[in-house]
Amino acid sequence: MRRKLAAGNWKMNGTAADLAEVAALAAAHPAPGVDLLLCPPATLIHRMAQVAGPVAVGGQDCHAAAKGAHTGDISTAMLRDAGATHVILGHSERRTDHGETDAQVRAKAEAALADGLVAVICIGETLEEREGGQTLGVVGTQLAGSTPDAATAANTVIAYEPVWAIGTGKVPTLDQIAEVHGFIRAELVKRFGEDGNGFRILYGGSVKPSNAAEIFAVSDVDGALVGGASLKAADFSPIIEALEAS
Ligand code: PEP
Repeated sequence: MRRKLAAGNWKMNGTAADLAEVAALAAAHPAPGVDLLLCPPATLIHRMAQVAGPVAVGGQDCHAAAKGAHTGDISTAMLRDAGATHVILGHSERRTDHGETDAQVRAKAEAALADGLVAVICIGETLEEREGGQTLGVVGTQLAGSTPDAATAANTVIAYEPVWAIGTGKVPTLDQIAEVHGFIRAELVKRFGEDGNGFRILYGGSVKPSNAAEIFAVSDVDGALVGGASLKAADFSPIIEALEAS
């Protein structure tokens, strides 16, 4: 049985004042029936971890190197030191804004796993790629190229996030989600054997309280990576409850 995971990505949002949302979320879910994770900006990881209760805290990126001359970057040890247990890697905004390649994402994931962090590896096609019938090819290439050989069901989560659905309010059809999640599952089993059945595969892209339940009913959807709707407890809570009920 895969334990479900509701993960929030705060992106470049949030200052100390927003920690009240996390305290409210923790108070509303003292014994959650699913795993909970919030990934704030690095500046908030430490303070969030103090008030997060049952909610795990993660980073949004890390460097592949342990330390050194990499101005503005953050290492896996720094994330752990601040209280993080997870790290999002290869988010489409990093791939676009910073030109991150599959090889770089994989190197970061290798560093994260070696240091005991759970890697949440993001993959997904652009609208052009979907309209060009390339979705499974693109997703398969990203999955193979970004996931380290050391990945296991315990240390790695895959997030399928169609780029065109992130922050746009557009969501793939349930059949489209099912097709891609089924494909990812099959690829994981091909590469990792029986353990491939244990990896959590999250859907991400405009998940909201109003569409969460139907998305969570799709087979091989083991939870969600949520951007905008994770910023407020009042929005994230019903998504968590929908996942608990699924
Ligand atoms: C994300 O940031 O990974 C994401 C899915 O964003 P949103 O939920 O806002 O579309």
